[in-house]
Amino acid sequence: MGQIINGKEVALKVKEDIKSFVDDRKEKKLKIPKIASILVGNDGGSIYYMNSQEKVANSLGVEFVKVTLPEVCDDIDVISEIHKLNEDDGVQGIILQLPLPVKFNEKKIIREISPNKDIDCLTFESQGKLYMGEPKFLPCTPNSVVTLIKSLNIDIVGKNVVVLGRSNIVGKPVAQLLLNENATVTICHSKTKNLKEVCKGADILVVAIGKPKFIDESYVNENTIVIDVGTSSFEGKITGDVDFDKVIEKCKLLTPVPGGVGALTTTLLIKNACEALKENEY
Ligand code: NAP
Repeated sequence: MGQIINGKEVALKVKEDIKSFVDDRKEKKLKIPKIASILVGNDGGSIYYMNSQEKVANSLGVEFVKVTLPEVCDDIDVISEIHKLNEDDGVQGIILQLPLPVKFNEKKIIREISPNKDIDCLTFESQGKLYMGEPKFLPCTPNSVVTLIKSLNIDIVGKNVVVLGRSNIVGKPVAQLLLNENATVTICHSKTKNLKEVCKGADILVVAIGKPKFIDESYVNENTIVIDVGTSSFEGKITGDVDFDKVIEKCKLLTPVPGGVGALTTTLLIKNACEALKENEY
């Protein structure tokens, strides 16, 4: 029987660090971090994420301002708001809530975010730096995966890591971060042959495919550490890509959904805003 990796516990430690950073600055009457979040239209999921980001930020003493634009506006209006925030010295981090409504040119708009304030690591410059091994901000979900693995105090160097999924937002950056940590990384996707055998040979298996309960006990061995990034809505519940009840019986360690990767992601976004503030001052 495997053990559960508790994302909330790991998040708590990161939150304590953020809180003491902010409290210390308040005491010294120094600037505190401020995040601006842009929401275009009224997508329910985006509103939910923005409100939960605001809640966590406020609980840590970090300022969070919402910039909301109606769906009837156009690319130029969104870009103009981004430019205003780029030039605002009081704002350290800009979050653009994605996806934008379909009529907007998302790629063109993302390019306008200043890389110095790109705490969500969306721009070409941020991603390029990540792939050069010199990231300015660590992308939050991939960083959550690596932070959870590091919390186990295991040596990642030379470990055989299999990443299932190759999206630009999760699979590829997770693989790159783990490569930067000197793991031996294999990336799998929907065209991979002998997927089960490849997964079964992993020391660490990171799953990000968006297919609820896809991974069962036949994809792991007794020593596998399994990190489940998936968050799909399944039978009215948020469900991971891993069939938790079956896999926990066999693997070594496993993240639950919810309470695993996702429990840490927003906290790491806020941590990035603190890093941005530090960097701007020195
Ligand atoms: P995505 O863009 O849809 O990418 C899915 C990837 O999985 C693709 O590379 C796809 O392969 C691969 N794939 C799909 N079915 C497969 C199969 N049967 N066998 C092997 N590979 C398969 O999804 P995403 O944005 O990366 O998100 C993945 C999951 O993570 C989703 O559930 C999402 O909600 C969740 N997520 C969680 C967080 C968090 O903080 N917890 C954040 C972001 C995303 P191809 O490239 O060949 O099509």
